[in-house]
Amino acid sequence: MSAAKFDQIGQVLRENQRFAVLSHVRPDGDALGSQLALGLSLKQIGKQVRIWNEEGMLDKYSFLPQANLLTKAPSQAEDFDVVLALDTAIQNRLGNTVNAIKSAKIWVNIDHHPSNPRYGDVVYIDSNAPATGQILFELITNQKLPIDRAIAENLYVAISTDTGSFQYPNTTARTFEIAAALVKIGVDVGRVSQLTYENYPRRRIELLRDLLGTMRFSADNRIASFSLSLAAAKNLGVLPEDNEGLIDHLRAIHGVIVAIFFEELSDGKVRVSMRSKDERVNVCAICEKFGGGGHVLAAGARVKGTLAEVEKKILEEACDVVSRVT
Ligand code: AMP
Ligand code: MN
Ligand code: MN
Repeated sequence: MSAAKFDQIGQVLRENQRFAVLSHVRPDGDALGSQLALGLSLKQIGKQVRIWNEEGMLDKYSFLPQANLLTKAPSQAEDFDVVLALDTAIQNRLGNTVNAIKSAKIWVNIDHHPSNPRYGDVVYIDSNAPATGQILFELITNQKLPIDRAIAENLYVAISTDTGSFQYPNTTARTFEIAAALVKIGVDVGRVSQLTYENYPRRRIELLRDLLGTMRFSADNRIASFSLSLAAAKNLGVLPEDNEGLIDHLRAIHGVIVAIFFEELSDGKVRVSMRSKDERVNVCAICEKFGGGGHVLAAGARVKGTLAEVEKKILEEACDVVSRVT
């Protein structure tokens, strides 16, 4: 099934000329690395490629090879043959970049979120893949598209960040085989890891200190949560990108099954991030109840209400689920 699908996608890539490569708002390493990797490969076969994200390139990922090719979308819309939506569970998480697409003949949706409703004309969803970057490695090699060191580093960061440095349970033998192949192509593991994980701005750690001050436990210490108010975020001068991965400090606690991070947003909503350490506790299902989605062990939602209201609603639901299955 995947070989035929890769042939179909490969044909779309070869037979068209103008491509937009998009991914989700609040991008992570998988989103940005995947966009750059596929965009670079397409450029090398002579395609006209736009690589857009609502937020543009984040400072913390600006070390990615050819990072300057990834920009915010322009205000003037353009015509395309193909739009590629990568790593994006629901179409509206492409944010404002879709406003810059005046027309497109084909929408291609490549993702690894099981909750992806399969929007688009050509759809490839592999929910067993730990990262969209892993799917793209398979696609690029299967279709004999170009892959050089720059592309390999982008894919490596995509896979490394979405697997929590090759630790989460979705990390398989295949993931390590692909990582080995990327290293053979030229990825400098020490350098790239240092740039990814040992290069944080001080304010991120100040933020962690603040978050730990709000830490609370529910459901007999099986749920841990912390929260960030708009006022605290402003006070610390943090950027949205600063909190990627901080939830792992809660997940890392002995006995904790569900970790939850609540972040007050400026639009009257609260961003909820959830992680589970137990397959029986499906945080995607919890988040879907509140209009969100994601994976069984990592999911999110944006929920209307004040921080206190949303915390109460979500914690009640999570406690209910955790008490029922554990
Ligand atoms: P995060 O907690 O933001 O790192 O997201 C964890 C996972 O849930 C990611 O795979 C996201 O794609 C997914 N996710 C996060 N927020 C949402 C949302 N509002 N709607 C759908 N999926 C989401
Ligand atoms: Mn992502
Ligand atoms: Mn991903």
